[in-house]
Amino acid sequence: MRIANVADRAHLVLPAGDGTDRLLDIAEISEQRFGPSLSALYDAWDEFRSWADDASFDAEAGLPVDRTALQAPSPRPRQVFAIGLNYDEHAAESGFEPPTDLPPVFTKYVSAFTGPDTEVQIPSGGNVDWEVELVVVIGRQAHRIDEDSAWGHVAGVTIGQDLSERITQLRGPAPQFGLGKSYPGFAPQGPYLVTPNELPDRDDLEIGCRIDDEVVQCGRTKEMIFNVPALIAKISENVTLYPGDIIFTGTPAGVGLGRTPQRFLVAGETLHTWIEGIGEMTQRFV
Ligand code: ZN
Repeated sequence: MRIANVADRAHLVLPAGDGTDRLLDIAEISEQRFGPSLSALYDAWDEFRSWADDASFDAEAGLPVDRTALQAPSPRPRQVFAIGLNYDEHAAESGFEPPTDLPPVFTKYVSAFTGPDTEVQIPSGGNVDWEVELVVVIGRQAHRIDEDSAWGHVAGVTIGQDLSERITQLRGPAPQFGLGKSYPGFAPQGPYLVTPNELPDRDDLEIGCRIDDEVVQCGRTKEMIFNVPALIAKISENVTLYPGDIIFTGTPAGVGLGRTPQRFLVAGETLHTWIEGIGEMTQRFV
């Protein structure tokens, strides 16, 4: 199942006979039982899934997809977690030993959230870097859950960019991850929430991004040091996860900060980001 956010209303995404995707408003097709907002949908996620699995839908009655209208699949989570140093080669390029017990956990503020296709303003004098990440959306409250049941607490996954302004991020006596990674537009996500059963292999997806025509990151999610179940188990040891909560799961190698010479995004460049089985996003920098 794929779900889109248009005007903060949850929509099912279904293929029509002509090969294009169509959108069905979930509140309308469920006669107001689910939604209309994405938050309301995640709060009733298990109930919604069992209803949707038994229902049949007419894709031809749906509206065509306007990509410029798509918004983040979970636009107002109660909590946003982001994971640092979760791929070996990225830890190495960042100058750190890979984490063994617990990776760094920080946040990106919700004000930075956008949909998948956007223009992003580079802060004056800023060193803006790219970080493609698999983003997990929680579908069931989770506290102290084990790895074996962790995927059962996931509504779905989407693509994210953990855009990072490195000067702010590294300013002062201790790193300022939250501020440096939360300028407006620095957390684009989308295009859709994809449920894990739709993926070719939920634990092993190609993940990458390119600047214009040059591929700068390309890895596989199976290379994560802490995979999705391990992250959910580790975070939920301390914190209660709620439906709609977001986890940015860390980035593979190839960021600009780790290059010699270092490289950052400049106005006029376009960042294309993809994950196998989910789709792609486009950020144009101004
Ligand atoms: Zn990151």
